[in-house]
Amino acid sequence: MTISNEKPFIAGNWKMHKTIPEAVEMVKALKEASPQLTDAELVVIPPYTILSEVKKVIEGSTVQLGAQNLFWEEKGAFTGEISPPMLKDAGCQYATIGHSERRQYFGETNETVNKKVKAALAHELTPIMCIGESLEEREKGKTMEKVETQINSGLDGLGKEEMRLIVIAYEPIWAIGTGVTATPSQAEEVHSFIREKLAEKYGNEIASYAIILYGGSVKPDNTYSLLKKNNINGALVGGASLEADSFIQITKEAIKAYKEKK
Ligand code: PEP
Repeated sequence: MTISNEKPFIAGNWKMHKTIPEAVEMVKALKEASPQLTDAELVVIPPYTILSEVKKVIEGSTVQLGAQNLFWEEKGAFTGEISPPMLKDAGCQYATIGHSERRQYFGETNETVNKKVKAALAHELTPIMCIGESLEEREKGKTMEKVETQINSGLDGLGKEEMRLIVIAYEPIWAIGTGVTATPSQAEEVHSFIREKLAEKYGNEIASYAIILYGGSVKPDNTYSLLKKNNINGALVGGASLEADSFIQITKEAIKAYKEKK
């Protein structure tokens, strides 16, 4: 599946939230609203236990499914892990890889991120590779250095054709779940830097089509100003993706901003 940034890309990372009945209620509401949201790519990213049930509900709509993580092996003695073929089987088209919570609490490194990105691609899952700096790194002026290292290591060994299939999410760690959003110009500065680095690695054409999402306390009232920025192609939304109303509102704001900047 080739990706393109002609439409805003809005993905909802549910983290470790929702039981099956709660999930079904949410995605039913989203499915109902989805005919008004066809000018966006819409993805929900529930916990593993809910994937199949969510898939049943969204079948036949434009809502797509992603997983929050994966392991790079196909099968074997890896207790507690989930493989790319299992995620395909559950109906996933996407997988977030290297979310900062995984890096912080579960020992994810740039090297494991790279293995996971490759495993996702090998099984036709689109990786949403997450990168971003801590507050300390930002305060020390190390944001670009951190982001560049994460890009270079995460994408190590991948060629132009593979880069066409990867989504990047810039998520400053200090903005995730804190209610503090990067200002649109702070986010744009990093997004344009990321696009520049992609252009150096893969050429202008691939860089210009790349989907670069912003994540970190995205809400209905800040989506428009973020998405108006040239290099912001969508949002990875945590807390505000748990309720259908706010996720739908974010998507509408993104569509509006995107239409105006085209
Ligand atoms: C996230 O989970 O990737 C995220 C950005 O969370 P929140 O929107 O809650 O900050």
